[in-house]
Amino acid sequence: MLVERSQIPPEGLDLEVREEPCWGEDQGLWLSLAPIEATLHLERKVNGILASGAFTTTAVVLCSRCSEPVSVPVSDQFAILFTGASEASRAEESELSAAEMDVDVMQEDRLDVSRFLRENVLLSLPLQPLCRAECRGLCPHCGIDLNETSCQCQVQEGDPRLLPLQHLL
Ligand SMILES: [Zn+2]
Ligand SMILES: [Zn+2]
Repeated sequence: MLVERSQIPPEGLDLEVREEPCWGEDQGLWLSLAPIEATLHLERKVNGILASGAFTTTAVVLCSRCSEPVSVPVSDQFAILFTGASEASRAEESELSAAEMDVDVMQEDRLDVSRFLRENVLLSLPLQPLCRAECRGLCPHCGIDLNETSCQCQVQEGDPRLLPLQHLL
């Protein structure tokens, strides 16, 4: 979805967006992604477009310990000033960017809402997703899923004095 700066009325533009994920570009970042639901308020500023709002979606990613698929809710709020390429340097000195606000550059006075939402989802993904807090992960030696079964690797690395007792365990 593209919004031209000239389409935004003086009082601002409120949008409800439902963005279907674009599989080709996002391959590898997640196994699947629910549509991104977002509410946006766009405002025309002297030096660009101010986009504020919130989004929510659900991503299926791999557990960082055991590599099982895990569904994680992803949501965040944002306030970003998009400046035209020629205004980018000026914006840095302006009052707007001095406030706690991100600044991004848009091409040809058009805001690519789809791209912007996908980038925000990406930034909000957990760095080390876990299927559950107590996930035991895979054995670093034999690769077995320790949530489902156990292996002998730990025992063999343990106290050598206990080795003769192993068959009793
Ligand atoms: Zn796990
Ligand atoms: Zn093992």
